[in-house]
Amino acid sequence: MTDGMGRTIDYIRISVTDRCNLRCRYCMPEEGVESIAHDRILRFGEILRIVSVLAGMGLKKVKITGGEPLVRRGVTDLIARIRQTPGIENITLTTNGVLLEEMYDSLADAGLDAVTVSLDTLDPARYRAITRRDEAERVIRGIRQAALKNRISLKINCVPMGDPREQGILELLQLAKSQPIHVRFIEMMPIGLGSQFPFISENELKEFLEAHLGALTPCSDVKGNGPCKYYAAEGFCGRVGFISAVTHKFCSECNRVRLTAEGFLKTCLQYDTGVELKPLLAAGCSEEELKAAIEKALRTKPSGHDFGGCARTAGAERRGMSQIGG
Ligand code: SAM
Ligand code: SF4
Repeated sequence: MTDGMGRTIDYIRISVTDRCNLRCRYCMPEEGVESIAHDRILRFGEILRIVSVLAGMGLKKVKITGGEPLVRRGVTDLIARIRQTPGIENITLTTNGVLLEEMYDSLADAGLDAVTVSLDTLDPARYRAITRRDEAERVIRGIRQAALKNRISLKINCVPMGDPREQGILELLQLAKSQPIHVRFIEMMPIGLGSQFPFISENELKEFLEAHLGALTPCSDVKGNGPCKYYAAEGFCGRVGFISAVTHKFCSECNRVRLTAEGFLKTCLQYDTGVELKPLLAAGCSEEELKAAIEKALRTKPSGHDFGGCARTAGAERRGMSQIGG
């Protein structure tokens, strides 16, 4: 399927819950956000119906996200069923990793192709300061186990904030030293609480890393669904990646839509554009009606974000990142 600008859309990020077992400072306030009532959350049957219609329109890749997706009961069954949907070639998950160790085998059995664990530091005190929870050891254990079992491809996502020395970025990169784990750095986006944090750009971080690790050499041997640029560092098994929506805008190659836990098909990360699918499903719409609503929303997918003028932009998103899923 193509949008109004002629971009091919073959990837969806599905948020299966807005709830989370962490409170990362750049994503959620300490008290959390008001949870969506259970009856307003999409049921698995509804998600599967949307995925099936989208797959008929050309969708190939699905990312399961949250909130924290592993806190939604039955998520592994959902993954298995999406994996079996004709047309879907790839299903991946992004998680904070707190429940990874205990759920790893069932995720692998369900046919998950890849998992990304969000981890900003290895240092337990820093981790607690960022996430307001004491789960660093559990997450790191989950990552090590996952690397040992090696049944699902594994990546780490880190959002750098301010001074990379203080955050322990070099220590975090050690995860990629002797194992094929790719560590990727996501520029902090000015969405929700993200605008209140110190920003470090891809170029600044790359310069810091090269000063310590030597030259980073561009490489193209990692398969992914999105705009990550990968580099090889001498002596490292895994790759170093950068996802830099702010300083290296990639909207012209955007291949995605998002589905919130309430069933809003969101056509741009920054803007509140899209279509509410839950009421249509609840009213018993036909496949054709669902398809027509999706096509109409795609025609008005914005050309790109305007993070520079985020707070002032008309129609800017009011949901926080935990309600969108990244
Ligand atoms: N709970 C899961 C996790 O942490 O991976 C999935 C949802 S979380 C919202 C998805 C990703 O968004 C995480 O990697 C998180 O670090 C990232 N994220 C949250 N707020 C962000 C922001 N303002 N800018 C950039 N990335 C952000
Ligand atoms: Fe939860 Fe993920 Fe947001 Fe952290 S980044 S609060 S783990 S949803």
